[in-house]
Amino acid sequence: MSKKVVIVGAGIVGLSTAYYLNKAGLDVTVIDGTDGTDNCSYGNAGYVSPSHIIPLASPGIINQGLKWMLNKKSPFYIQPKLSRDLLTWGWLFKKASTNKRVKAAIPVLNELTTKSQSLYEEIIAEEGIEAGYHKPGLLMICQTKEALKHEIELAEIANQFGLDANVVSKAETERLDPNVNYDMAGAVYFGCDGWMTPNVFMEKFKSLLIKRGIKLDFNTELQAINTKGEKITEFITDKRNYQADDFVVAAGSWSPTLLQWLKLKLPLQPGKGYSFTIKNPPVSPKLPSILVEARVATTPTLDGFRVAGTMEITGLNHNINERRVQGIIDSVKTAIPEYQSYNFDDVKPWAGLRPCTPDGLPYIGSTKTFKNLFVGTGHAMLGWTLGPITGKLLTQNILGQSADIKSNLLNVDRYF
Ligand SMILES: Cc1cc2nc3c(=O)[nH]c(=O)nc-3n(C[C@H](O)[C@H](O)[C@H](O)COP(=O)(O)OP(=O)(O)OC[C@H]3O[C@@H](n4cnc5c(N)ncnc54)[C@H](O)[C@@H]3O)c2cc1C
Repeated sequence: MSKKVVIVGAGIVGLSTAYYLNKAGLDVTVIDGTDGTDNCSYGNAGYVSPSHIIPLASPGIINQGLKWMLNKKSPFYIQPKLSRDLLTWGWLFKKASTNKRVKAAIPVLNELTTKSQSLYEEIIAEEGIEAGYHKPGLLMICQTKEALKHEIELAEIANQFGLDANVVSKAETERLDPNVNYDMAGAVYFGCDGWMTPNVFMEKFKSLLIKRGIKLDFNTELQAINTKGEKITEFITDKRNYQADDFVVAAGSWSPTLLQWLKLKLPLQPGKGYSFTIKNPPVSPKLPSILVEARVATTPTLDGFRVAGTMEITGLNHNINERRVQGIIDSVKTAIPEYQSYNFDDVKPWAGLRPCTPDGLPYIGSTKTFKNLFVGTGHAMLGWTLGPITGKLLTQNILGQSADIKSNLLNVDRYF
């Protein structure tokens, strides 16, 4: 009889884990408290980004963050509150924001992102999933010389890791993307990046998993976890109890709440981001671009022109702050002149919660306390990119195989 695994969380991480476990011949069930049609893995910008090798916690970010806190339309905000979890997270974030820690994190992120990109390409080719995956391309559009200088430094680091990153002028940018006339000082073009329409991929991926015999139990909320000694015995949900040999927590920003029931403290904060998709845009870029100063990501998706941004640490809620959405709109108007007279009144903002660790590296693997409990979360701004590699690594952990990537920096219990 094949080993049974139950996964909580039907985002890209949970579904990718289910895919690889099923391929290895295991009996897999995924449970999710929602109807499974909208989580953080749906409305994101869809970048599959080897270019993103610098973790969020990095030198200079705290000073920059403090300046942004004073601006109600800025791309970053932490709601000050006397919460022990938030204070601990902030303290650990500060500790991680050093050159030494960033230097150690870069090769790990580089290996994770490049391997995950290859896995996406393999899944798309093998399973015939059409979700508008394109490569190459990501433009980092800088409107000021100062931002460009910083991006050039990052491109040099990327080049050292074999990533294809080139500084391009306005004329070269217009050759790469003739559809848009950016207001810019210069750009960096990452030929290593890819993108797709995440919501389309998610729907097709779910259908594939069902066809492969994976059980997807939606509207099924995990409410407690039973244990015996060093083992998890049952997931208790509002529908029924699930017994299995192994259990996986891939519940995104909710993961710490679930693990707290087991007295496992996972420092993690939800980083809220917004996106909206313009169905019939006045200008549709050919390539995705990050408007660097505003930290806004734009993507030509199968659904239209998607614009995403903002990192708000305000707890587990999907409340929409209209002023920050307006900040995103303003940045598009500033960078792309064709949008200056566009009426954004009809755009419907979407909000998603990125699971953010203090050091910008995800938690992937087993726990020391419970031998049959595995965790995959904390991917923050890279969760879409890192879904497949996380699923593959967790599968290798569960099967007791040597993992494709081994690093203590990814340990689930590195802060326990
Ligand atoms: C605006 C924005 C843009 C982004 N752009 C990109 C990008 O371009 N590239 C990139 O790599 N990443 C991007 N990201 C980040 C990425 O979307 C996330 O990191 C990723 O989707 C997280 O996936 P996940 O599977 O961990 O969690 P989720 O997708 O959040 O899934 C977790 C699931 O767990 C379920 N769950 C939680 N608690 C329970 C419970 N008790 N019982 C049952 N189910 C439960 C939830 O219902 C949810 O469905 C972006 C994020 C945002 C917000």
